[in-house]
Amino acid sequence: MLFIFGTKRVGKTIKTGTFQCPRCNCERDYLLKQNKKFFSLFFIPVIPLNNVGDTLQCTFCKTEYIPSTILAPDEYTSSTATIDGLERPIASAGKRIGSYIIDAIFLTLLNFPLAFAVKYLPKIFNDQFFLAIFPLWIIYFFVMELFFKGTIGKKICSIDTISEDMEKPITALRYLLRSIVKTVPVINIIFLFNDKHKGCHDFVANTIVVEK
Ligand SMILES: [Zn+2]
Repeated sequence: MLFIFGTKRVGKTIKTGTFQCPRCNCERDYLLKQNKKFFSLFFIPVIPLNNVGDTLQCTFCKTEYIPSTILAPDEYTSSTATIDGLERPIASAGKRIGSYIIDAIFLTLLNFPLAFAVKYLPKIFNDQFFLAIFPLWIIYFFVMELFFKGTIGKKICSIDTISEDMEKPITALRYLLRSIVKTVPVINIIFLFNDKHKGCHDFVANTIVVEK
């Protein structure tokens, strides 16, 4: 059988310049690259996983160096270093998506007993089943985050929700708001487009998701 999926390292050039290449033993151009591991399908990188560190590559001999051994501290700060003095790195997009998929599968399974239970609820829930599903999702996210410090998906993917302002712990109200906004479809995709990977629910509750 062919291997159709795997992981692949992809480097994005974040800086260029010249340096004294130890191998060429003369001045060369370099590419400073931020490397990310991607989940790949048919050798095409699809889902970004985690940062795997930066490399500095000589454009001539292609040798890769550890950037901090070549560049001065004022020229280079590691992209894997945490943002704004956070103690733990921001959770990768792949883990966020993975965690959400696991929770969605679990919640879909919970819809089956709910389909039987609605018979005993007011008729409106029977006619409009989604009215019963949304509260279930909200309650699930709320209860899991508040009492168990994370959903099943988050636990499996080893990521945590924390307060962005360390001084202010997440209150029950903030967890509730977060859970409500999280159930709104599609909008949370914005987490892919900001450096702290915050979804709308994270903005509302002032939370961030970090690696365990
Ligand atoms: Zn070289």
